[in-house]
Amino acid sequence: MSLEEMAILDVEKVIRDFEAMTKDAENVQRATLKLILEENGCAEYLQKLGLNGRTDPESFKACVPLVTHKDLEPYIQRVADGDSSPILTGKPIPTISLSSGTTDGKQKFLPFNDELMETTMQIFSTSFAFRNREFPIERGMSLQFVFSGKQTKTKGGLLAGTASTNVYRNPRFRQVLKSFQAPICSPDEVIFSPDFHQSLYCHLLCGLLHREEIQLVNSAFAHSNVLAFRTFEQVWEELCADIREGVLSSRVTLPSLRSAMAKLLKPNPELADLIEKKCLGLRNWYGLIPELFPNVKYIYGIMTGSMEPFVKKLRHYAGDVPLITADYGATEGWIGVNVNPTLPPESATYAVPPNIAYFEFVSLNENAEEHVQDEANGSFLSVEPKPIGLTEVKVGEEYEVIVTSFTGLYRYKLGDVVRVMGFHNSTPELKFVRRRNVMLTINIDKNTEKDLQLAVEEAAKLVAEEKQEVLDFTSHVDVSSDPGHYVIFWEMSGDVSDKILQECCNCLDRSFVDAGYVSSRKVNTIGPLELRILGKGTFQKILEHYLGLGAALSQFKTPRCVGPANNKVLQILGDNVAKTYFSTAF
Ligand code: AMP
Repeated sequence: MSLEEMAILDVEKVIRDFEAMTKDAENVQRATLKLILEENGCAEYLQKLGLNGRTDPESFKACVPLVTHKDLEPYIQRVADGDSSPILTGKPIPTISLSSGTTDGKQKFLPFNDELMETTMQIFSTSFAFRNREFPIERGMSLQFVFSGKQTKTKGGLLAGTASTNVYRNPRFRQVLKSFQAPICSPDEVIFSPDFHQSLYCHLLCGLLHREEIQLVNSAFAHSNVLAFRTFEQVWEELCADIREGVLSSRVTLPSLRSAMAKLLKPNPELADLIEKKCLGLRNWYGLIPELFPNVKYIYGIMTGSMEPFVKKLRHYAGDVPLITADYGATEGWIGVNVNPTLPPESATYAVPPNIAYFEFVSLNENAEEHVQDEANGSFLSVEPKPIGLTEVKVGEEYEVIVTSFTGLYRYKLGDVVRVMGFHNSTPELKFVRRRNVMLTINIDKNTEKDLQLAVEEAAKLVAEEKQEVLDFTSHVDVSSDPGHYVIFWEMSGDVSDKILQECCNCLDRSFVDAGYVSSRKVNTIGPLELRILGKGTFQKILEHYLGLGAALSQFKTPRCVGPANNKVLQILGDNVAKTYFSTAF
């Protein structure tokens, strides 16, 4: 699209293109795979797999194995270290994204390139077009709680940042936002500020100064929207004072923020009085958002999956303003777009644009397992079923998503479980169900069984000094109070002093190094980790409970995370807590 064309997004055209493409999803998928393989056929990774220029799905599936991040890590590492030869892609990768996901206790590197940026803009434009048809924005502004971290450089000199930072810092992002006619009301200094708390305060202040123009309130994930208005409850009087006097609160200390905000602030006692009156008139802050921003059309941000627990609070602040969930993607790339914006987040689905990547799906239906005979001993083994194509999935079934992208990921297991809820023309509409192996998650944090294990191993070293050991452990996410927090249960071999156990608790908290967890702990959107020491024999009682349900002793595995619906096990744990410690690590 040229700059002139970009001036205002032609929403009807965007919708027409999407409809045409999704009517022909199978062919578009074939053409997309062909394009990916033509552009990247010379890459070392594909060369050694013997495709020999073939680009059809059948040859592709026959030659290219399913992989996880771990398999691609050595290739991506070489890219990050500055090797610009065609390793995974034909053209060199200019930027690295840091994923929040961790399997082995460290951040994952993933490729980010112009093609992914373009896909991102296509996704944003498509969902905007569908939203705008239902809830048109007219020359307004948006209050976006965006916090763009810094881009750093890898050892090889490539730019590196989280995927959202890489997007926000790309000039194309601003261009496209402009075309939506809802520019962000906050200046760049606020968006790119290194201090999250100061930035949030300034975002709120900018929103209030533009209160009549604000037509949408938005954050990447619902938890930041909720956090923003929780913060407002705490600081509203200070915000009013700033507006009244035209002077920014001394809590904002960064010179760049102070000078940017000074340009916007001038004494406005009428506005301060009005906001004050509105706040005092609210009951328990119900309907806060439309009171503050009378022309807001909707509230936007990812509200499904691990964000679902925030919907209730957001709805409280929103009153009768609609909540619309944002699109479905990962650092690896995009998967689906919300083309049914009138659906509430609880029943939202994501339609897959067939031109953004080549998709395959592995059925997780128990009956879908295939049985093959082991050549060595003739016994039958269960193996995962063969992945199927985008247009072959069945309504009501659950699948793991496999992606082949323009960024050099080929048949990459994303680790997400989705359910097919229906079709938009011939492309499926997916509901996000869960991560395949994440156990501990509250908002943007993701910790796997392995992460928990590493944290427990680390903390257990402290106990070893007292000649004791951790006999068994499990975990639970407690969201009954706000903010939610992790609870780790330990059964010990013998007595350990309070001092050591308190240190263990802090050590556990610090050992979850997932970027989403650490950043949430720093701003207290995840509360202090709790270590509960169990009485002797508690895990034996849990084992007996499972055996009573018919589990085989030989197959029994201690549940490493106890879900909220597992009442019986939660009760056994709860009845046997001897001591409790809260982390003071953050
Ligand atoms: P990250 O790579 O750290 O950005 O995390 C990406 C993961 O976040 C995805 O693989 C999903 O598990 C989850 N996710 C992203 N978008 C959505 C969404 N719209 N609904 C539910 N989960 C999502």
